[in-house]
Amino acid sequence: MLTSATEQAAKQKGRLFNFDFWKERVQKRYKSNLKKSYTPEYAMAIYLMEMANVKNLDKLIRWCNNRGLTIYFKRHENGTYDECFKSIMIAANASPIKQVIYLLHECGHHLIHQHPGEPNRFLMGYDQTDPRITRTFQHRLACLEEEMEAWQRGRSLAKKLKLRIDEDVLDLIRINCLKSYIKWTVKKKGYE
Ligand SMILES: [Zn+2]
Repeated sequence: MLTSATEQAAKQKGRLFNFDFWKERVQKRYKSNLKKSYTPEYAMAIYLMEMANVKNLDKLIRWCNNRGLTIYFKRHENGTYDECFKSIMIAANASPIKQVIYLLHECGHHLIHQHPGEPNRFLMGYDQTDPRITRTFQHRLACLEEEMEAWQRGRSLAKKLKLRIDEDVLDLIRINCLKSYIKWTVKKKGYE
């Protein structure tokens, strides 16, 4: 049971996953979609897809918790991995399918930091704080390489855990995220 101090801290960090709460939200959305101009078949298709992703989320978060990772949901963009605090922050307002995909990618970052591989081609990347390094192209390229690898490892994790993921949605999100990182790597105006 959480004490009030840790409860307070958890609130600041965000909400923890609760299967029943997520399920209730999907059911509420289904009822409100039926009130809209959605056909019953379309509303049901969305309902089933969202329920499958709540189950995916539950499975994935159990895997994270077993590795000592805490997952928080907060009004936030996409996802972020914190190596220091062994935590991941996921957009609370995103749909269950997007939450699963963002979380898979952040788990990919976690796996890279646990097993960087040899030689560590990400060494010049995110771990660097020295501005003499962080202003170089090599640094930005190492970060981009880690981003690509994190998507790869996330996808492998989904396979390992036998998650039912819509590959097309995953690819669309992956491409959009990488597009922004590529623009940042080459210092495109507005992305520096
Ligand atoms: Zn990333």
